[in-house]
Amino acid sequence: MNAALCFGEEMLRLYNTDGRKVQPFVPLEPGRARLYTCGPTVYNFAHIGNLRTYVFEDILKRVLRRCGYQARHVMNITDVGHLTSDGDVGEDKMEVGAARERKTVWEIRDFFTAAFMADAKDLRLDPPDTTCRATDHIAEQIAMVRELESKGIAYPLADGLYFDTAKFPGYGRMAGLDPEGLMAGARVEVAEGKRNITDFCLWKLTAPGVKRLMEWDSPWGRGFPGWHIECSAMARKFLGDNFDIHCGGIDHVRVHHTNEIAQTEALTGKKWVNWWMHGEFLLLDEGKMSKSSGTFLTLSALKERGYDPLAYRLFLMNAHYRKPLVFSFEALEGAQRALQRLRGRAHKLAAAAGAAPHPGYLQRFDAALEDDLNAPQALAQTWELLHDESVPPAQKVATLASMDEVLQLDVFRTESEKPEPGAGAGMTQNPMVGVLQMSEESLREKIRQLLEQRTEARQAHDFARADALRAEITALGVDIKDSPTGTTWTRRRGHR
Ligand code: AMP
Ligand code: ZN
Repeated sequence: MNAALCFGEEMLRLYNTDGRKVQPFVPLEPGRARLYTCGPTVYNFAHIGNLRTYVFEDILKRVLRRCGYQARHVMNITDVGHLTSDGDVGEDKMEVGAARERKTVWEIRDFFTAAFMADAKDLRLDPPDTTCRATDHIAEQIAMVRELESKGIAYPLADGLYFDTAKFPGYGRMAGLDPEGLMAGARVEVAEGKRNITDFCLWKLTAPGVKRLMEWDSPWGRGFPGWHIECSAMARKFLGDNFDIHCGGIDHVRVHHTNEIAQTEALTGKKWVNWWMHGEFLLLDEGKMSKSSGTFLTLSALKERGYDPLAYRLFLMNAHYRKPLVFSFEALEGAQRALQRLRGRAHKLAAAAGAAPHPGYLQRFDAALEDDLNAPQALAQTWELLHDESVPPAQKVATLASMDEVLQLDVFRTESEKPEPGAGAGMTQNPMVGVLQMSEESLREKIRQLLEQRTEARQAHDFARADALRAEITALGVDIKDSPTGTTWTRRRGHR
């Protein structure tokens, strides 16, 4: 892409959820783009749905850089156990995870952060410039809540301090919420005493007589911050009171990002983020994939079944990020075969060198990406190029190499080559994050639970789910055998 064109003529167009239209991207500072992406909640593995959102964000960042912007990317790690319900009630996710694995919350946090980083590396996600943990920024969160309190926007209830959404006139602007309509039809679980159904917790107090695994002192008493405040506090700290782009999955529009906007803009009195971008969901045949219900597939499970993580990346790029995408093993199989064909063709050409990229193909590839990150159309140019007999091999190689800077499919890898550890644009391991092995006991418990769920799925003739669970069990280094008398399992050689 021609940087001058990108800046001068505002070639890059991106959909903004806030306003619901595709607009030419205009950064706050010429040549720079400041980007915040909501990161993982580390009480479980990331499922492949979560990873769809991170791949979309990776493509966004690579396209920004390709357009000549210096992208500064900040991502949080949610390691405070916010509650399982958006209505500020329910169980603490980190404590649930710790009880499930029989570990401390801190061990859970480190284990699943490391697992996330390994997935990110496998998918060749470019590492953020700053990765920040909520538990390392409790003071910033408390300071922000205090400011809100001093402005009279927060009010106390028995279980914590709440944001009064009626005091922020633009509440729900981006999501198109109608707070009065919501109030009338309210059927969600909410904390008792809330003034408005949309009010949300800023600081949750530990219940009297309870000792929580994660809690901190605050001006309101011992407790923990609400979920939304962490992103506002850290994004402000690292990117400021007005920055360019904030991303996440589509589920964040209604509650998490709506509340981030409310608390930040109520406090600063000005517009916070210029572009809000959201990736649509990856769906399973039967609907939503969710961490809390346990219905999820991990990248390790796909690898264990013999799929290249980059085949999953290719599968994702075959759909536009703003379209829901249904996952199936058939489609993934198709992507794996396509990746093999792509690499096979690229490999045959690889010896040819010394040419410049083909301007027509590259321009059309870039134009597709500049058009709100249209990856499927960009990929179509890659395939056309490969099939075009009129383009000399050396020119194809140069064009492909340039395209792969965004695609990140490792197109010149031969099938017999395994990716080198640390190769590609992988995320470097955060030295603060120790890798923790699951204990023998919790591993056995995990296998037992998964086998039980698989038996239930089989009894309900839900074979897709049963297959997904088998893949998860296999990922733990275990082989299972079904017989008329039941299912038995054995540890594979080489695994503990
Ligand atoms: P979490 O770890 O639950 O906070 O989610 C991490 C990211 O994944 C967030 O940006 C979510 O919006 C996103 N996400 C959650 N479920 C899905 C899904 N099924 N498909 C795509 N993105 C998702
Ligand atoms: Zn967030």
